[in-house]
Amino acid sequence: MKRYWSRRIRDMVPYVPGEQPRDRVFIKLNTNENPYPPSPAALAALREAADEGLRLYPDPECTQLRTAIAAAHGLAPEQVFAGNGSDEVLAFCFQAFFDPDRPVCFADITYTFYAVYAEYFGLTARLIPLEADFSLPVGPFCTGDNGGVVVANPNAPTGLEVAQKDLVRILEANPQAVVLVDEAYIDFGGTSADTLVDRYHNLVVVRTLSKGHGLAGLRVGYALGHPDLMAALRCVRDSINSYTVDRAAQAAAAAAIADADYFEAQAAKVMATRARSAAELRALGFEVTDSKANFLFVHHPKADAKALLDGLRQRGILVRWFDRPRISDYLRITVGTDEEMTALCKAMKELMEEYR
Ligand SMILES: *Cc1c(COP(=O)(O)O)cnc(C)c1O
Repeated sequence: MKRYWSRRIRDMVPYVPGEQPRDRVFIKLNTNENPYPPSPAALAALREAADEGLRLYPDPECTQLRTAIAAAHGLAPEQVFAGNGSDEVLAFCFQAFFDPDRPVCFADITYTFYAVYAEYFGLTARLIPLEADFSLPVGPFCTGDNGGVVVANPNAPTGLEVAQKDLVRILEANPQAVVLVDEAYIDFGGTSADTLVDRYHNLVVVRTLSKGHGLAGLRVGYALGHPDLMAALRCVRDSINSYTVDRAAQAAAAAAIADADYFEAQAAKVMATRARSAAELRALGFEVTDSKANFLFVHHPKADAKALLDGLRQRGILVRWFDRPRISDYLRITVGTDEEMTALCKAMKELMEEYR
C-alpha cells in the first residue's frame, strides 16, 4: 500500500513511543512519567480555564505562560518560546536552525527522536560514539564544521549528566552553529544551562513539563535562548500552526511553573527513591549508571535484559528495553513511587534467582 503517501514519508521509520496499555493495570515504569500528581494549583487553573472562553483562540504568543517561565529562570519573556510539548519545540528547532549542507552532531546513544527529525527534515546526522562507560566525549563535538549540535542533559537513556564546563567547551567551539541542550530530565538533580543563555547566543535550552512537573498529558514544553533564535522558532511555528498550546494548557502550565515549592518537593521524593532503588538493584548484582534523571539504566552481567523485560511484564511491571546496538543488554526503569520500586526490586530478585 502507501499508494498515496508522499515521497517524504514513504521510507520513514518513525519514533516508537513507550507503550500506554489500556487492557490491564500495570506498574508503569516504561515512559518516565512522574509517579506523583501535578501541582494542585495547576489543576485548579485547568478547571478554571474550562469555560466559555474556549470559544476563542488562545494567545498565540503564550504571554502569561512565557512570563511565568521567564521569571522562574531569571530571563526575559523575549528569551522564551513555548510549544506543544518539548518534542514539538525540538522539531521546530531542527527546522529553524539546521541546514542540509552541514551535519548535525549528536551522540550515537541518545534520545532517538533526534535521528528521526534529522531524517525527516533531510539533514545529515554526524553520530558521535559515547565512551564505553557512556560518558560524552567532548573533543569530537568541538571539531569539524558542524551545522548544529544536540545534547540531551542528562542523557537518555543512560541518565548521565554532562558537566557544565564541557557544555561551555562545546558552545565555544561551535560559534557557527546552534547548540541545543535538551533538559527533559534536568529537574532531578542536574545543573541547568539556563544560566548560560545570556552569555552564549548560539545556545538553546529545551525544557518540558512532562517529567519534573508531572504533566506529560498536558503537552507543554519550551525553549530558552537569544531573542533572535526565539523569533526563528516563531517563524517556523507560524508557518505551520500558530496555536499549538491551547488555552487550558497555557493556564495550567503557568500555574505549575509558579508553584515551585510543590515541584521541588516531588522531585526530591523521586531522587530519594532513585537512590534507594539503585542501591537495592546493585545489591542484586546489577550495574546501575549514576543517573541524574527520573529513571535508572541497569544491566546485569548474568541476565538477559529481554528475558528480564518479559519476566517483569508477566509480573505486571512495564520497563523499557531498546533493541539497539550497545544497549540491548540494558533496561531503562522509570523511578516510580516507593511502593512501585519495592515491587520492582522484589520481582527482580525473584527473576535473578533463576540465574543462580
Ligand atoms: C520525554 C522527552 C522529551 C519529550 O518531552 P515532551 O515535552 O513530553 O514532548 C524530550 N526529550 C527527551 C530526552 C525526553 O526524554
